[in-house]
Amino acid sequence: MTFAATILTLYPEMFPGPLGVSLAGRALAEAKWSLGAVNIRDFAADKHRTVDDTPAGGGAGMVLRADVLAAAIDSVADDRPILAMTPRGKPLDQARIRALADGPGVTILCGRFEGFDERIFEGRAIEQVSIGDYVLSGGEMGALVLLDACIRLLPGVMGAASSGVDESFETGLLEYPQYTRPVEWEGRTIPEVLRSGDHARIAAWRKHMAETDTRLRRPDLWERHEGARVQSPSGARRQTKDE
Ligand code: SAH
Repeated sequence: MTFAATILTLYPEMFPGPLGVSLAGRALAEAKWSLGAVNIRDFAADKHRTVDDTPAGGGAGMVLRADVLAAAIDSVADDRPILAMTPRGKPLDQARIRALADGPGVTILCGRFEGFDERIFEGRAIEQVSIGDYVLSGGEMGALVLLDACIRLLPGVMGAASSGVDESFETGLLEYPQYTRPVEWEGRTIPEVLRSGDHARIAAWRKHMAETDTRLRRPDLWERHEGARVQSPSGARRQTKDE
């Protein structure tokens, strides 16, 4: 079974876009995933092919009509989850991406203008997701981001099967810093431990750096990580060294 992505958008020409090159592009050519872009406008019922209207209650911009969105969604009804791109959605994280990549694929609804008539989320089973706390002009870039993150996890897509398990967020931490040749650059050398060949020391250094950097750069992640660590599977608190 290949991972099948369907994008519901007013701009189908934006796909595959950047997903047509490099890792994702090669995987697409090798049919390790598939892509369909559906134009929401094809589901407009009037002769002007209207997809939006003014916001109820007044205000700037236009809102995508629920009836048109529903017709577009219903045209692809299958067992794949339907996600809508919206800054009002739950922020995507690596755990959700991994779960999606393990599944049959995804249908992604891309907003434009001021977004969606809220009733679409009551009338259809749609998971609202955000790619971060900033506002895009449309959901297409968000869909590309989500798909890129999923595709690299698909079987046979990433070169070394092991790359990925250590990476940022996979362990609930940021990744440790990386270095490569030359050993000396502008007077700066690669940390000695990484040149020691001592795999146990290297692993310990990497763990230490991952923890330190996460604590300093992403206190939110660190707090969650520590919370999970002091919580035993039964839910009882375990002693930690700080207690
Ligand atoms: N008026 C809306 C923003 C609309 S932006 C609000 O303030 O919530 C237009 C479209 O861009 C949205 O419908 C959504 O599909 C997409 N979009 C914007 N920011 C996004 C984000 N952070 N994550 C995912 N999609 C986003």
